[in-house]
Amino acid sequence: MAGFFSTPIEYLRGIGPQKADLLKKELQLFTYGDLIQHYPFRHEDRTRFYPIAQLNDQMPYVQLKGRIRSLEMVGEGKKKRLVAYFSDGTGEIELVWFAKAAWVAKSLRSGTDYVAFGKPSKFGQKYSIAHPELEVLTDYNNAGGYLQPVYHTTEKLKRKFIDSKAISKIQEQLLKLAADYIHETLPQHLLEQYRLMGKKEALQGIHFPKDHEWLAKALFRLKFEELFYIQLRLLKLKLGRTEKYKGQVFDNPELLTRFYKDHLPFDLTGAQKRVVKEIYADVRSGKQMNRLLQGDVGSGKTIVAFISMLLAIGCGAQAALMAPTEILATQHYHGLKEFAKKLGLNIALLTGSTKQKARRQIHEALESGVLHILVGTHALLEDPVQFKNLGLAVIDEQHRFGVAQRARLWNKNELYPPHILVMTATPIPRTLAMTLYGDLDVSVIDELPAGRKPIQTVHRYDAHRLRVFGFMKEQIKEGRQIYIVYPLIEESEKLDLKDLTDGYESICRAFPQPEYQVSIVHGRQKPEEKEYEMQRFLKKQTQIMVATTVIEVGVNVPNASVMIIENAERFGLAQLHQLRGRVGRGAAQSYCILMTDFKLSKEARIRIDTMVRTNNGFEIADMDLRLRGPGDITGTQQSGITDLLVSDLSKDSKILQVARDAASALLEEDPLLELTQNKDVKRQVEAQTQDVLNWSRIS
Ligand code: ADP
Ligand code: MG
Repeated sequence: MAGFFSTPIEYLRGIGPQKADLLKKELQLFTYGDLIQHYPFRHEDRTRFYPIAQLNDQMPYVQLKGRIRSLEMVGEGKKKRLVAYFSDGTGEIELVWFAKAAWVAKSLRSGTDYVAFGKPSKFGQKYSIAHPELEVLTDYNNAGGYLQPVYHTTEKLKRKFIDSKAISKIQEQLLKLAADYIHETLPQHLLEQYRLMGKKEALQGIHFPKDHEWLAKALFRLKFEELFYIQLRLLKLKLGRTEKYKGQVFDNPELLTRFYKDHLPFDLTGAQKRVVKEIYADVRSGKQMNRLLQGDVGSGKTIVAFISMLLAIGCGAQAALMAPTEILATQHYHGLKEFAKKLGLNIALLTGSTKQKARRQIHEALESGVLHILVGTHALLEDPVQFKNLGLAVIDEQHRFGVAQRARLWNKNELYPPHILVMTATPIPRTLAMTLYGDLDVSVIDELPAGRKPIQTVHRYDAHRLRVFGFMKEQIKEGRQIYIVYPLIEESEKLDLKDLTDGYESICRAFPQPEYQVSIVHGRQKPEEKEYEMQRFLKKQTQIMVATTVIEVGVNVPNASVMIIENAERFGLAQLHQLRGRVGRGAAQSYCILMTDFKLSKEARIRIDTMVRTNNGFEIADMDLRLRGPGDITGTQQSGITDLLVSDLSKDSKILQVARDAASALLEEDPLLELTQNKDVKRQVEAQTQDVLNWSRIS
């Protein structure tokens, strides 16, 4: 079976070496297996013909059957177009071609019956279809009753006549050949339990369904299979790890109790307490902890991370925190230092820009065990970084570290792998979490500290800037401080920097000294300069901080209560939410003002509206997923996991849950996949593991 599906596509009749090359380059289709899994992304409904009299302009694509009465070229110059008057006895419609009009005109015959397919639109009282698909009426298409698959293709392929129709012909042929080789890939007991269509029928059905019901069942079956095997692999990984890896036992909460009694700056929220309990249970269990900590911006993850560290340090081990960027690492360092100071713990920051001498000192202090906590970037993963006894590694992910990198931290302790706590900087949708972090246990902080007033978010156009300035002056009079943020996107760094300095100058004009003081911070400054400006703002020596997104993660300034985001349309939802989270940390009412031009793309408008509508990070994350799709959110590092063929994590959350439950139940009954009834599952998992190994070697 594997043999057949690994046959190179040029062996298929009608493809040949040239077309095969193009299909490989353009669509990455190398084998019969790739080809058969090049599923259509939608189907055109050819199941029925609509009478022209019954058309309305809300209809998506419709199929009509009628006769071209006459053809005519109308208009001049650019507006020149070909119009075919098409009637079916119930009414008449205009078929219109703007492009290649002359060529089309030659190929059409008036007085002939055709099947027309396209999207009707209404002009005045008349309907028309622009660039319809036309076929001469035959016995075959007259019979109707089928759904036409539409395949993704490219301009280059189309130029070589490999359009969707051509691919459909290829698939038809391939499916016939493949019939004897398609084996069932799910065990009988699952097919029965979940009433799933067989594999052969499902493959036939996703390409050439007879009706909508068949298509729906085929899709369900294939999505189930896809998600089931991903979940099975993740759950197996998790299971294997808890079996295999012992963890250091941290069951001495003395240090923690001391911190609670004498130094805790506020009462923990109920959610924070619950999460601490979950973590404590993990680290004293004797098994290695692998836990994901999710919580909205400002929900207080830092202190939970610190408390977890105390459990390790209290038992003589060390703790590390790794963040994806230098600025994030620096922020965490400052946040944790506050707490560490109180207990007399040693903490250091290690990033790419740490000087050689300081670096050496850190290495030594780590190895001798003098250093309790190390915060840093990827620099932590480097070989010279050796701990005396790393007990807990906290990873602030922000979707940026891959599974492989997570694993590298493990090797930092030869005796026992460190306990791992992964924190996400912003919430991620459940479906995505289940897929990306499905091998981890999950804790959620779903409660904000008491007394927080929800941030008020508004959208203002650039033209109303003066009013915004007026509002800023009122706020400053009340003793508040203000952030103004400009986008900084790497490709156009120069241009953005100009935006920023222009903005800075205009702010300085509108808010003149000595009454007002303005700070500026951006990525091109030296760390000392940045630090100096941040400190001035923190000490309330300046009222306004003009910055690039470096302050997305900058210092925590509870007195800052206004966040103004310039060119807000250029930011993604996660980033907007993260930026907004910089305010609303003190007692005062906070505001977020999203500034944009009048002109906004549809998506940008949805993003802005979402921000104005809700403060809920999970809701925002869901919208983000819907707008961008999982691949973009997770970045290339994760693509090995989220390259899904049929499933869509933004829509298929129900199927995902069913598949995960099924995988979980199966492993519970048969953890090592030894039962005969699961032998196909076992083979499938082994094949998949091979793929993943290959993938991780590449990355
Ligand atoms: P995030 O989850 O975004 O990392 P932080 O850990 O930075 O949030 O916490 C945000 C702010 O809330 C910090 O100023 C922190 O000191 C404060 N904070 C955290 N927990 C509590 C609490 N239980 N009560 C009051 N303030 C808290
Ligand atoms: Mg944080």
